[in-house]
Amino acid sequence: MTDSAMPLPIADSVPSLRAQIALWKKAGDTVALVPTMGALHEGHLALVRRAKAVCAKAVVSIFVNPTQFGPNEDYGRYPRQEAKDAELLASAGADLLYLPPVEAMYPRGFSTTITVDGVSKGLCGDFRPIHFAGVATVVAKLLLQGGPDRALFGEKDYQQLQVIKRLVIDLDIPVAIEGVPTVREADGLAMSSRNAYLSPAERAIAARLNVILGEVAGRAKGGEWPAQAAQWGRAELEKAGFTKIDYLEIRDAESLVALERLDRPARVLAAAWLGKTRLIDNRAVG
Ligand code: AMP
Repeated sequence: MTDSAMPLPIADSVPSLRAQIALWKKAGDTVALVPTMGALHEGHLALVRRAKAVCAKAVVSIFVNPTQFGPNEDYGRYPRQEAKDAELLASAGADLLYLPPVEAMYPRGFSTTITVDGVSKGLCGDFRPIHFAGVATVVAKLLLQGGPDRALFGEKDYQQLQVIKRLVIDLDIPVAIEGVPTVREADGLAMSSRNAYLSPAERAIAARLNVILGEVAGRAKGGEWPAQAAQWGRAELEKAGFTKIDYLEIRDAESLVALERLDRPARVLAAAWLGKTRLIDNRAVG
């Protein structure tokens, strides 16, 4: 925490969140929401700084959402460090931390799930079947609980960003969704709370993911068929030492449908494993 940072106010219930946001709106302030699962790093803080650049007030939620983790995923061991996160958020200029307990988000009898068809299918959707329904449901709840003017999400989770854009259009949720470019380590690895799981040897290999995606994008841009460039990239990931490749694909940048040729804005996206850690990354083609 910098010397000037004040302790961050915390809301831990829907009424307290709504009360604070209502006060700000009454005073004429615009409000941005940055949803996170905590274990914050510079990538998250870039979202907060952007939120403060475009809105008067920035609310950051930290909620490790159980419904977006599959039964064999890392919900139980997901890193939790709320006190440190609160300090980081205060120094990044956040105005309120929303920290709802699981029972506040999913009270007894909770029965509603939102599924976004189309963009949720394929890519991560093939390997994490309940994931995007969990994300769509919790993000819809956060947006309805807070009623922000704007909500910011990282391009790091590119498919998630497209799912959320579709969600707010389809459900007429009155909020502007903004994607923020991926923040990377010096060697190009996309910052992620899950990077903490990597051993030093895995960490060295991890940096290859972004490099290979860049090379795949270059090949496709240079005239290779998208499918051929993607196949080359999968072989390179294997050579680099990734232990399992869920996918590496070139897709339409918005709808995420498969592309036969590069005739519109495209994105190369991948998910690959190093031991027990699953990494994702993506970048624009061209
Ligand atoms: P998470 O806590 O992993 O759910 O992430 C919360 C938000 O931060 C999501 O919108 C992510 O896409 C975004 N985010 C995570 N890592 C990065 C990064 N390296 N650069 C930019 N945004 C990120």
